[in-house]
Amino acid sequence: MSPDALLDRAREAAAHAYAPYSTFPVGCALLLQDGSVVTGCNVENASYGLSMCAERGAISRMIIETGANRPPSDDSAPPRPKIVLAAIAGLKAAPCYPCGACRQVLHEFDCGAIVVEDNETKGPVVIDFADLLPHAFGPADL
Ligand SMILES: [Zn+2]
Repeated sequence: MSPDALLDRAREAAAHAYAPYSTFPVGCALLLQDGSVVTGCNVENASYGLSMCAERGAISRMIIETGANRPPSDDSAPPRPKIVLAAIAGLKAAPCYPCGACRQVLHEFDCGAIVVEDNETKGPVVIDFADLLPHAFGPADL
């Protein structure tokens, strides 16, 4: 799937966002190593701090759909999913970069790159993940 097509999936997910307080809908689409795509949207809460970003919503769905929640001791457990490309789209702002917390959570699943919208052309801008979160702490560091 092309970065532009993945960005379209993120825009579609953003249309489902629950963002009554900020009115800032965001969608995320994750292209996984097996070629599948999972999406998520931001979900806000009256207690603002409990709001959930689109990226982490998509990762929650990824865990459900890949069965990756099973412990490694389970021989039938699938390998930990890997994110090839993560598209993030805000319907009211471009580019819409992931927040610091989401960068860390994306790193947990070996995110290779992100794609966001260019401010003027609305076309895709692909950024290598190492440039987004340099010197990251992750599973390999434990
Ligand atoms: Zn976030």
